[in-house]
Amino acid sequence: MWGRRAFLGASGLALGSVLTACGAKPETTRPAGITPPPTPMPAPTPSPTPTPTATAPAAPALAKVPAPHEAFTGLPGEGNLLAWTVDDGTDTAVVRAYAQFAHATGTRLTLFATASYSSWAENVDVLKPLVDSGQVQIGNHTWSHPDLTSLSDQGIIDELQRTHDRIGELFGVDARPFYRPPFGFHDRRVRAAAASIGYTAPTLWYGSLADSSLISADEIVRLGHEWMLPQHIVIGHLNHAPVTTVFPQLAQIIAERGLVTVTMNDVFSSEQHP
Ligand SMILES: [Zn+2]
Repeated sequence: MWGRRAFLGASGLALGSVLTACGAKPETTRPAGITPPPTPMPAPTPSPTPTPTATAPAAPALAKVPAPHEAFTGLPGEGNLLAWTVDDGTDTAVVRAYAQFAHATGTRLTLFATASYSSWAENVDVLKPLVDSGQVQIGNHTWSHPDLTSLSDQGIIDELQRTHDRIGELFGVDARPFYRPPFGFHDRRVRAAAASIGYTAPTLWYGSLADSSLISADEIVRLGHEWMLPQHIVIGHLNHAPVTTVFPQLAQIIAERGLVTVTMNDVFSSEQHP
């Protein structure tokens, strides 16, 4: 089964780079206390010859597996898939650049939106066609990026529901069941409150581009080499410009390794997205 390890708090920082998130708390290479779980779930079956195309490729032909009902850090089974996920959205130009990169290359992305940032509304024109085609998926990353473990049950629900509604207004999609708890902080109570409104899949990561705070483009490329690996969920951020200067290098890592980018909905089935 998926690891049932609760995240225990801010103290136990994990391996690798420790960085400052868009708040003052660290986001680490992977959520602390979480060992990548063995994944005995059936593997999605990759299409025999994934054919890269210049723009708007069809979703890879995968036999989906049910979305986990607990926190997960990677994609199930063996394969050549990469889930490139990108969070927050404090810099509207970075959101736009990611959308343009996706459009130009066909790269599939899951964007975890912190919906209080104006970048989401400001980039509907470039994002909506990508969301409509399924190439880009929007997940829920709360309204104001709090540590959800510090909120009341109702506070947790309000943070997720407000962003859920905003994503629906802007993009016409149901973001459930995928949410990313800010800083990777969650516990049994957070998961239960989120699940009560349909957010049943806390989506963590195993590998980070470490750019929730400002780091150099070279360091981002180095971390791409380190973490863009088969079946990994990698986290980046829509907050600082350097990543937008090294999209070709990151795309080259993916191409050289024969990785196929996927969204959560490409890999997982759910009530909302069968
Ligand atoms: Zn975040």
